[in-house]
Amino acid sequence: MKKIIVSVMTVVAMMGCAEQKKEKREDVQETFNYVVDKFADLQILRYQVPGFESLSLQQKQLLYHLSEAALMGRDILFDQNNRYNLAIRRILETIYQNYKGDRENEEFQALETYLKRIWFSNGIHHHYGEEKFIPAFTPVFFRACVEQMDASKLPVREGETVEQLIAELTPVLFDPTVMAKRTIQSGDQDIIVASANNYYGEGVHLKEVEAFYGKMKDPKDQTPVSYGLNSRLVKENGQLTEKVWKVGGLYSEAIEAIVAELEKAVAFAENEAQKAVIETLIAYYKTGDLKTFDAYSVLWVKDTTSEVDFVNGFIETYGDPLGMKASWESSVNFINKEATKRTKVISDNAQWFEDHSPVDKRFKKEEVKGVSAKVITVTMIGGDCYPATPIGINLPNADWIRRDHGSKSVTIENITEAYDKASQGGGLGAEFIWSDTEREIIKKYGFLTGNLHTDLHECLGHGSGKLLPGVDPDGLKAYSSTLEEARADLFGLYYMGDDKMVELGLVPDAEAYKAEYYNFMMNGLMTQLVRVELGKNVEEAHMRNRQLIARWVFEKGEADKVVEMKKKDDKTYVVINDYIKLRHLFGELLTEVQRIKSEGDFEAGKKLVEDYAVKVDPVLHAEVLERYAGLNLAPYRGFVNPVMKQVKNEKGEVTDVVLDYTEGFDDQMLRYSSDYSYLPTYN
Ligand code: ZN
Repeated sequence: MKKIIVSVMTVVAMMGCAEQKKEKREDVQETFNYVVDKFADLQILRYQVPGFESLSLQQKQLLYHLSEAALMGRDILFDQNNRYNLAIRRILETIYQNYKGDRENEEFQALETYLKRIWFSNGIHHHYGEEKFIPAFTPVFFRACVEQMDASKLPVREGETVEQLIAELTPVLFDPTVMAKRTIQSGDQDIIVASANNYYGEGVHLKEVEAFYGKMKDPKDQTPVSYGLNSRLVKENGQLTEKVWKVGGLYSEAIEAIVAELEKAVAFAENEAQKAVIETLIAYYKTGDLKTFDAYSVLWVKDTTSEVDFVNGFIETYGDPLGMKASWESSVNFINKEATKRTKVISDNAQWFEDHSPVDKRFKKEEVKGVSAKVITVTMIGGDCYPATPIGINLPNADWIRRDHGSKSVTIENITEAYDKASQGGGLGAEFIWSDTEREIIKKYGFLTGNLHTDLHECLGHGSGKLLPGVDPDGLKAYSSTLEEARADLFGLYYMGDDKMVELGLVPDAEAYKAEYYNFMMNGLMTQLVRVELGKNVEEAHMRNRQLIARWVFEKGEADKVVEMKKKDDKTYVVINDYIKLRHLFGELLTEVQRIKSEGDFEAGKKLVEDYAVKVDPVLHAEVLERYAGLNLAPYRGFVNPVMKQVKNEKGEVTDVVLDYTEGFDDQMLRYSSDYSYLPTYN
């Protein structure tokens, strides 16, 4: 649960700092084209990889092989998200590349947009809102297109006809009630049955899953594996059984390709520690053994000296309603040494922050272990990190590894930099910020405090606190992701306004934190609603977390008018009257959320989330959507990767690795589907 995703308001926070950044990064090309494409509710950006040229050839080769491996699990994620995703993607790509009719035709254009959305979301459901996209072309048009295609290019099951394929897929594509939502996080229905993802087989029910894994867990085990992390749970002959994702298991074809590439990477490891990390990951992929995964995670968290680093595997569990099964992802990167000086100050003082936090002493770590933090530059993102990508990551996720060995946390500054550059002149701040006073503060400090909040969230927030002995780490069930994100955000918010930040030189003065407070409250109370359709609830864990915090402190501070919603020309604005009291409210909520986590208080956690994080005021929502529509912006953004190429001499030896930044979104997606597609259509 340790990923931070950019909020709508980070966009505003990152405006107006071009001058500072220019000084720091001479190698950023001024003519670089950050914006690649825009369709539906999405904008596609491109990130740069400053500093890549000056790495050693060995490091570049290591990055090359890790980056190749980062692209090889793409199909796994598609299949994890829904069992029809690969079939639908492949059919639509075939149509897209071979359609003989008028490509300007409205229905074909609608098909193109639909395919682009599937590429972006790694499937037929919205990457963030989880709801299924409904195509703007008709079933009749779909049928006509499919019938036009060479049948050998279509993913027809063995022994079946094209007609059967169309019949099977038509409701999946067009019927809004079929597989309506990828992941159901809460509610009264059976969240396993109702979720359209592919983590559980057909006919598997929530109660059975809980019993199946409940039996495996030993409450006295101090170092439990992450049960269920790397498998699909299916019913065979009435018996539940795990189909493990490993070489020789489910998704073997893709995992074999990843392993082959990791084996090439081993030869270029920077040191023995890093070599052991890669080799242990390979061993895990080959066996599927979760103890080996933990061994890998421990080695990985301890390797803090290598400059090149990566994540590759089944890592984050947001997609599983029970938060156990992990989606496949990869992020390959190297350290940004200059910016890491900032996070080093934070991690060097981790114990001070833990000791001084407002939470109950019983829930604090007596000894904060191995919190390491750095700022990184990504070279390739894949799986669940692509095209929508986090701006910060904190891993590993296993609570006991974090307790005994610490965690590694990163802020991804070439991504936040791209957001910053692409947002300049975006207009969101002009529309939604109360007055020039707030606008000035945000302009002056917003980029810095936005990055700093990410640092604090990742490096300290997720790493802080402890569970009481015997508390089940999965005890908060469907509410765990939201509450964990809230805990991390609150830890960061509480300390943003602490004098210690000035003392440590992390902010220039005692005013700076107000930029993040204002951005956070405006986003949580209003602007993030641009991502939610009118009439719908807030679903995604990070968004729920932000609304939970913002609405809770708003309500608790209402009598004192700490934060107000004021009207001006019939428009609603967030006004913060008392920043100091607001900080104390953040501290109060942090105390309660930490208690809920430490004690595993499911009922209190559920109540907090259901009361504050889910429901939306429909009148305010409509107003926000209307004002936003006038701005011609896209509420969600993602990235294309650079193309990484080996340069070889006449003897075939690699003499350099270079990056090309010219590939467009469609070309990249089609290339990945052609060159990195290892899985059969039905798995
Ligand atoms: Zn987080």
